[in-house]
Amino acid sequence: MMKSLWILLTATTLLSAFEYGLKPEKVNDNVYCFFGKPEVMNTKNNGNMVNSCFVDLGNKWLVIDPGPTFAYAKEAWNEISAIKKMPVASVINTHVHDDHWLGNGFYLSLGVDVLGAAAFTEEVNPTAVTRMEQRISKEAYAQTSPKLPTILLDQNSTLHIDGTEVRLIHVDTKAHTSGDILVYLPKMQTIFCGDVVFNDRLPSLRDGDISGWIGTLEMIKAMPVEYVIGGHGDAVKRVALDMTYGYLIELRDEVRAAIENDVGIDVAVKAIKMPSYSSVALYDVMHAQNVEVVYRMLEWGDE
Ligand SMILES: [Zn+2]
Repeated sequence: MMKSLWILLTATTLLSAFEYGLKPEKVNDNVYCFFGKPEVMNTKNNGNMVNSCFVDLGNKWLVIDPGPTFAYAKEAWNEISAIKKMPVASVINTHVHDDHWLGNGFYLSLGVDVLGAAAFTEEVNPTAVTRMEQRISKEAYAQTSPKLPTILLDQNSTLHIDGTEVRLIHVDTKAHTSGDILVYLPKMQTIFCGDVVFNDRLPSLRDGDISGWIGTLEMIKAMPVEYVIGGHGDAVKRVALDMTYGYLIELRDEVRAAIENDVGIDVAVKAIKMPSYSSVALYDVMHAQNVEVVYRMLEWGDE
């Protein structure tokens, strides 16, 4: 009897044993974030390469992107609960890329609603094996399964929680993806931009649209916000916008010039180096692909 109990306890401990060593960073009086590494997902970071943030709304937390796995979401939640113990009002998924939302299952197990763009139903097949599952360790992925948002948005929406206005801006054009949501808290002068904003690694244009993305960044630049928090990178003031914006503008201009000068795509991919970004993380894996993707976007006509 004692022995089987001991085996059961050991087995339970092993099942929940994976730990990331997450530590929250205080962004301002109301916001804490876990900032991921400037890397692609692998068996070393186990998906801890993405940002996950918590907003103190007084009596409830708002969660912006629950992170890459069930274990991550649970651990982040334990860390935040140690700062202030209160329930979660809602979880927001900024977009469909799985490093940002595979933690949904943890919050759904607590009975919390998850809000995300209607694009989830078109872009995510919940029965497919996820990118995360293919690339990280089994231990870290244990208990994770793809759980889509329970409330889908196809337009702007405003929540009022504990007297705080939370504006969910449904970007009405393709930017980083076809369903980006920005979370704007006017009272706190804070905006969460998901992957419309990267500041420590190059963005990927693969699922996006360069013109829509630049337009969205220009809209954010015109807003009266002090804190700008992206999906990747730990800059949290307006300067957080600069890397992505500068990169996209230069990339658009260089590719446009190549097309106008009848430079073919293969030559353009080799020639457009943009050396001022060559030391930014993931340049070697992302940049040439971005040139190619943007060339194909722009060759069919640009405004
Ligand atoms: Zn993304």
